[in-house]
Amino acid sequence: MLLDLLLPRRCVVCRLPGATLCTACTRSLPRLAPPLCARCGAPVAWPVARCRECSGRRIAFASARAAVEYDVAVRTLVSAWKEHGLRDVASLAADLVAEVVRWPSSGPSAHLITFVPPDGDRSLRRGHHPPARLARELGRRWELPVEPLLRRARPVRAQRGLTRDERRRNVRGAFRAAPVRGRILLVDDVYTTGATVSAAATALRAAGATSVEVVTFGRAVRR
Ligand SMILES: [Zn+2]
Ligand SMILES: [Zn+2]
Repeated sequence: MLLDLLLPRRCVVCRLPGATLCTACTRSLPRLAPPLCARCGAPVAWPVARCRECSGRRIAFASARAAVEYDVAVRTLVSAWKEHGLRDVASLAADLVAEVVRWPSSGPSAHLITFVPPDGDRSLRRGHHPPARLARELGRRWELPVEPLLRRARPVRAQRGLTRDERRRNVRGAFRAAPVRGRILLVDDVYTTGATVSAAATALRAAGATSVEVVTFGRAVRR
């Protein structure tokens, strides 16, 4: 982008001149450390199979994990990533995911990585798609192939400002997946209520996936 060439680079969080995210801000991003809910990845007081946030809910993915809590600093970083297409944020986000996300085995058990697809208008305006970039960076680190398996079956209004139930209804049936086999790792930038990734996982399983694991950069945490 032209602006990136003309302006001195600054940390998007603290505005100090230098890297897109300075060392101090990188260090202080709130990593999501165990104990976590085994299913949805919410931080919990002790390890549980299902937590208050996800118990009793129909969830189409086997597990969800994220690198950092979606706090004010992470929100600032993610919106800069989305709005300005900052190229180095994808690599930085993938580094954090690889550093923080601990799988039961030595790595994800998936055969293939895919990502939540862009919504027509919004991504055209932005001209790039953070989940696809993050998926490719993770594919390189974990040596897994990345394929765009999902597409939008219909336009969906932005999830921002909707309640959990409204979000679930808003994205129900919103995705279609290409025929697929085996275990899939589904990547998105932020996990808010899990409605979007669950709808996408439903489509992947309907298309033949054995199981779907979800990984995101940020995760909203209810206190
Ligand atoms: Zn900073
Ligand atoms: Zn849970």
